[in-house]
Order: sequence, then C-alpha cells, then structure tokens
Amino acid sequence: MTLKIGVFGGTFDPVHIGHLRSALETLELLDLDEIWFIPAAFPPHKDQTTFASFEHRLNMLKLATKHLDFFRVLDVEADRPGPSFTIDTIHELRRDAPDGAEFFLMMGLDQFISLKTWKDYKQLPVFSSIVVMERQISEEIDIFQQISEIFPEMIWSEDEAAFVAPGLKSIYPLAVTPLDISSSAIRDMLAVNASISFLTPEPVIEYLLENSLYLPEKTEEEADSGLDIAFEVMELLNKSNAKDVIGLDLRRLSDVTDFFIIAAGRSSRQNQGIADELEAELKKLGIRPRTIEATKESNWILMDYGDWVVHIFQEEAREFYDLEGLWHDAPRLTIARGHKSS
Ligand code: ATP
Repeated sequence: MTLKIGVFGGTFDPVHIGHLRSALETLELLDLDEIWFIPAAFPPHKDQTTFASFEHRLNMLKLATKHLDFFRVLDVEADRPGPSFTIDTIHELRRDAPDGAEFFLMMGLDQFISLKTWKDYKQLPVFSSIVVMERQISEEIDIFQQISEIFPEMIWSEDEAAFVAPGLKSIYPLAVTPLDISSSAIRDMLAVNASISFLTPEPVIEYLLENSLYLPEKTEEEADSGLDIAFEVMELLNKSNAKDVIGLDLRRLSDVTDFFIIAAGRSSRQNQGIADELEAELKKLGIRPRTIEATKESNWILMDYGDWVVHIFQEEAREFYDLEGLWHDAPRLTIARGHKSS
C-alpha cells in the first residue's frame, strides 16, 4: 500500500492555526495519510535568524499537534550544519521512508513564487509532488500563471486537477480556507502584550508565555532594574541567615531568565524558613513568584520570579546539582557586608 505523506516545512516561529488548518485541509483534499511538519533549523529563504530557538519551535509544533496522530513533527533538520535546503531534506526522507512512500511537498503561494531561488528547484518534482496552497481570498498573484512560469514543461490536467509532465510528479494548486494569520503578526502582537488567543492552540500559548518567547526587548533601564532587584534579593537572603549567597548573571546566556540567585540553608527546615521569609519580604514590595517548587525533602527550593529565579539548597544538594559549575560562564554577583560587585 502506498503511504501518501505531506511534507510541510517552515520556520514555525511560532506555529499557528493557518499552518494547522491548511495542513488538515490538504490531508483531506488530496487523501494523504500523514503530514510531517519539519521545522527548519536555519531557514535559507528567510533572513538567516529565527526569533525562537529550534528546540522551542519544535516543542511548540509538538504541543500543537500532539492529539492528532496523522500529524507528525520531525527534527531531521536539527543536526544539519548550515542552511536547511528542501531538496536535501526530500532526499533524506526518501532514503528513510518505507517502500512505496509518496511525498507531497507543501508550501504557501508566498513561498512558491520564490522557488527559483531554491537550491536545485527543478529537481523537486522529480522526487516529490508539490502542493501550492493559496493563502488569501483575493490573491493578486495568479497561482496557475506562477506554476506555468516556474515549470513551463508542465501542463494543466483537468482530470488530475494538477500540473503534470512525463517523468515528473504533479503540482497541485490548492485553495485552502483563507486564514490571514502569520507568525510575524503573532510576534508583533506579543511584543505589545496583545492577546493571541485563538490564533494558535492554547498549549502553544502557555508554552511561549512560560518561556518568555517573543517578548519586547528590554530597555537598558529595565535590564539594570533587574540587576538592582537581584542584589536586593541577595541582601534579603543574607539577612535571613542563608549562607554563601551568590548571583549568576544569565542575561547574555539564557533567554529563559536573567538571574539565578543561589543560597544555602543548613537543613530542610531552615531552607523552608528562608524561602518563606523571602517570599513575605518580596510580597511587601508587590513582587510575587510565578511558582515555587521544592523537592520532597526540601533540600532544594526553587522560587521562580520570571526574570530571576532563587534556588535555596542544602549544602550536599547544591554540590550535587552544581548550578555554579553548569553556568561557569556566567558573570557572578556577590555581596559582602553590603558591598556589591559584578
Ligand atoms: P512569517 O510571518 O514569520 O513569515 P509564516 O506565518 O509565513 O511566518 P512560516 O513558518 O514561514 O510561517 O510558513 C511555513 C509555511 O506555511 C509556508 O509555506 C507558508 O506559505 C505557509 N503558511 C503560513 N501561514 C499560512 C496560512 N495562514 N495559511 C496557509 N499557509 C500558511
């Protein structure tokens, strides 16, 4: 039996319902068995950078598709050095696919019109059918004209509802429900704290908020105020008899948080006391944690305040988890008798 597989590459920065809905409609209209979503590690057709890391984009795709077993997410482009070229991906997929698998490379019309700039684009229909999805109600660009211009050797077949040529796979122009949604619009909305509800599945929204993705760049002033608060927290910990209080400045190393503040208590009871006192003091300043988590024995309490995270360890746990070692590249913040240094 032939397995018909839609191959949907993109940046997915982040994935949204425009991607998901058009993928589902393609699956139904062309009677495909599966759609494979393939995030590009280093997209060659866009300006060389993505906003979220490959791992975040992959995780968001997995969350968006996890309840649909005909949608799969592949990380085949993760380890490839340099740009991810579609033709290389198609070759790799064909090599590993079950016998008789047939591929349908999917893309929006906006992508298709730049196909002539893609590596070995003429080879694409040798190895895979192509599906060109129309994204808008009134396309100014004529999809038929574009296909004929890029592949003049192919002719329209009414019977197949596709462009065909001997020795080549077909090219299908496909009208999908126009959803004028784009990843860039979503990023723009997040940058001004607008809601993105219903534009992408809820688990994706939760994930990107939890990981502080696509937030506005901090001004220098805001970044400095984060540093002041980090020192303030270290002072508070010192006052509550926590030992060996240090801060790690992660601003250039992590996009998850700006500072780790690490302190040690002598026992789980003392750890709990230190955490309670710190929480109460910060509450007075109107600062509340997002979450507080602790190991069962309270030998490690983690207080997540978003831009900074406090870790209160017992000595052995501190050595065991060795955050200072793991983040040895991070500049250290120390305070000694009210003196700050960084
Ligand atoms: P950006 O706004 O950052 O350019 P995007 O929303 O176009 O991103 P990509 O990840 O670049 O998303 O798109 C991957 C593929 O999905 C492309 O082939 C694109 O044409 C198609 N696509 C994107 N948005 C839609 C949509 N709303 N409907 C149908 N196809 C879409």
